[in-house]
Amino acid sequence: MSSGEVAGRGGGPARVRIRVEGIVQGVGFRPYVHALARRLALSGWVGNDGRGVFIEAEGAAEDVARFQRELPGQAPPLAVIDRISVTAIPVLGERRERGFGIVPSRDGGRRTLVSPDVATCADCLAELFDASCRRHRHPFVNCTNCGPRFTIVRDVPYDRAATTMASFAMCGACAAEYGDPGDRRFHAQPVCCPRCGPVLRLLDGRGREVAGDPVAGAVAVLRSGGVVAVKGLGGYHLAVDATDAGAVAALRSRKRREDKPFAVVVANVAAARRLCVVGGEAERLLVSPARPIVVLPRHAEAAPGSPVVAEGVA
Ligand SMILES: [Zn+2]
Ligand SMILES: [Zn+2]
Repeated sequence: MSSGEVAGRGGGPARVRIRVEGIVQGVGFRPYVHALARRLALSGWVGNDGRGVFIEAEGAAEDVARFQRELPGQAPPLAVIDRISVTAIPVLGERRERGFGIVPSRDGGRRTLVSPDVATCADCLAELFDASCRRHRHPFVNCTNCGPRFTIVRDVPYDRAATTMASFAMCGACAAEYGDPGDRRFHAQPVCCPRCGPVLRLLDGRGREVAGDPVAGAVAVLRSGGVVAVKGLGGYHLAVDATDAGAVAALRSRKRREDKPFAVVVANVAAARRLCVVGGEAERLLVSPARPIVVLPRHAEAAPGSPVVAEGVA
C-alpha cells in the first residue's frame, strides 16, 4: 500500500485526486469515504469505476492531509486495500463546489475486485428474529456489512443495476435506507424487504408449488426423512436431518457419495460444541464473516448426529 501525502504543506486550500484499489466495492467503502470527508468538512466526491474507487477531496490543507492519513486506517472491516495513489490537483473553490457527494459509477476498465459473499451480521440476525422489525423472518436480510456480493454480481462497477437484484425495485422504505448516509443500508446494493425483494417458494418433487409457509413446509419434509434442495445464492444445498440415519443413507446413495463426509449445519458454536471439540482457532473461523466449513474432531460420546454423516472419521 502506498499513500504518499501530497497535501498538508501551507495553510491554504488543497485538492487531491485519490484512487483506491483492492476489494473496495460492495463493502461500504463509498459511504465510509463520504462520512470521513463530511467529518473533515471537505468538498468533492467519491465513486466506483471498473478499477476501484475514485475520490476528489478539497478543503483546508491540514484537513485534506488528515483525510489521506485516516483513509486507509479506518476502512470498513470487509475492505482490503491493495493500493492508494494520490495526486495534487488545482482547487475548485467554494463557488464551484458545495459539499461532498457520492457520484454515479463510471464505466471503463474491468479489473476491480468484488468482495466474496459475507455471512449475515449480528445486527441483521437481530432483525431477523425481532417480531417488531419489518424484516422479521425475511430470509434475504442483509446490509452494508453482510450479505451476497460475488454470487449476485454480473458486472463491475458493483451497483444494483449490475447485480441479479436489478429486477427488484426497492420499496419506499428500502429506498429511504439506501439513500440515507446515516443508515446501515446506505448504498447496500442487495437491500430489500418482504414487500420488494425475492420470496421463498417450496416445490414438491414434481415441481409443483406447495401451499403454506415454505419454511415450515421444508422443515416438515426434513422431519419426515426427506431431502430438501435449498436453492441458495450460489447453487443448491441438498439437506437432510443429520440425526436420521435413513435419510442420510438415502442421500448418500442418490449422490453416489459412499464415504465422503457431509457438512453438518449447526445453529451456533454452542451447538457445534455438543458434537465436536471446538478449539479457539476453530471458533474464530466458525464465527468469522466467511463462515467456512471447519473440520473438527468428533466428541467420543456425541450422541446426536448419525454416524453415517461422517463414517470412519474420528
Ligand atoms: Zn448485516
Ligand atoms: Zn423494501
